[in-house]
Amino acid sequence: MPLCSEARIIAKRAGARVLAAMSGGQRLLLLGGGHSQLAVLQALARERPTGWQVTLVTPQPRMLYSGMLPGWMAGHYRLGQCAIDLHRLAVAAGVELRLGAAVALDAEQQRVSLDDGSVIGYERLSLDIGSGIALGPLGALVSGRCDSQQTAPILLPVRPLAGFVSGWRRIVTQAAARPDFALAVLGAGAGGVELAFAARRRLGRSVSLVCGDAGLLPGHAAGVRRRARHWLVRRGVALLSGPALPQGADALRLADGSLLRADALITATGAQPAGWLAQSGLALTESGQVEVDACQRSVSHAAVFAAGDVSQRSDGALASSGVHAVRAGPVLAHNLLASLRDAPLRRWRPRGRSLYLLSTGERHALMSYGRFSLAGGWVWRWKDHIDRAFIARHDPDSDRAA
Ligand SMILES: Cc1cc2nc3c(=O)[nH]c(=O)nc-3n(C[C@H](O)[C@H](O)[C@H](O)COP(=O)(O)OP(=O)(O)OC[C@H]3O[C@@H](n4cnc5c(N)ncnc54)[C@H](O)[C@@H]3O)c2cc1C
Repeated sequence: MPLCSEARIIAKRAGARVLAAMSGGQRLLLLGGGHSQLAVLQALARERPTGWQVTLVTPQPRMLYSGMLPGWMAGHYRLGQCAIDLHRLAVAAGVELRLGAAVALDAEQQRVSLDDGSVIGYERLSLDIGSGIALGPLGALVSGRCDSQQTAPILLPVRPLAGFVSGWRRIVTQAAARPDFALAVLGAGAGGVELAFAARRRLGRSVSLVCGDAGLLPGHAAGVRRRARHWLVRRGVALLSGPALPQGADALRLADGSLLRADALITATGAQPAGWLAQSGLALTESGQVEVDACQRSVSHAAVFAAGDVSQRSDGALASSGVHAVRAGPVLAHNLLASLRDAPLRRWRPRGRSLYLLSTGERHALMSYGRFSLAGGWVWRWKDHIDRAFIARHDPDSDRAA
């Protein structure tokens, strides 16, 4: 395996600060408990590096697994079945857990500010905070109230997931009381498609899926898109051409000029990294993601590692997706711990093709792998098995824990 030779830069750059900190232990800060960070917590549970105080900062004590969220919406899972307990993983790894969210990062001073006003310094930082949703012009819409006085549609971004969960529950309540309730999902990537199918199954009301400029399932093969179209028709989900643009404060106009009536809009319109990263001093890509090398380390600040949707590799080898965030986890964990020991880092090259299993609302799913596609009940059972195994692997008490 080729090596990243610059690992020692960190200790030299941090110099006196590291020495000063040694007496009280150096700090490894894990920011965000996303898909990649799970592997870091598990590696820390195995290795327990001496001389390092490790802190995990996360807004919630559990991580909701997005792969199972459409299944929860559709009624196939309880929410607890889709959650990974970060608190127990942290305890098992000897990691201090701080509930909170970062609001600023100073990469030169090596410190992070939290939403409660506190500041945490670090000698190493592992960033896995995911992303928000890019609303673009949709931000001009006034978000509606969730009661009988409602005029404007409810605007519900799919991220952050905790907010989405409570917003979805309100939509279910409203839709149950109104047979004419109409919902639109904006954004027809893998997430948007699954959300539209799940919403249709759960609500039994009018559901539309509005594509952006790139159309249905961009990046997937023509055969996959054909199958998805077929199942959208069969399930009664209207596929509309966008992009949808706000018309006044409470309506949307589609590409063909027609107006879209909706009581609720779920936006799955693409990832948007946290805005405060722009002032962090870290090298960012054009899209505002932290630029990392093939070792998942910041190209500008060697004390910082990042993986998942918050990051983008300089070599462009990884698109933002849950599959890639999971695959980057073991590399992030290995390199982070190697850097604590001043040991060589490992480069990695992700596989070109990824397997996507997209549920179609019922216990039925579509498979997309390169130019191959399949659909059926057995694909859903396969997905269900993979998803449950993922959750079990991250349960410290499970026999299947990694
Ligand atoms: C409905 C849906 C279905 C999807 N289906 C698929 C699929 O089938 N296949 C696929 O590959 N991808 C899928 N995705 C995309 C996938 O969910 C993301 O790419 C993946 O979650 C990215 O993982 P991550 O670790 O970067 O971030 P996340 O999993 O989002 O984790 C980030 C964590 O950081 C925390 N955090 C956020 N901000 C802060 C802060 N300021 N300070 C501290 N902590 C913070 C969050 O609470 C969260 O726990 C889907 C997404 C959705 C919404």
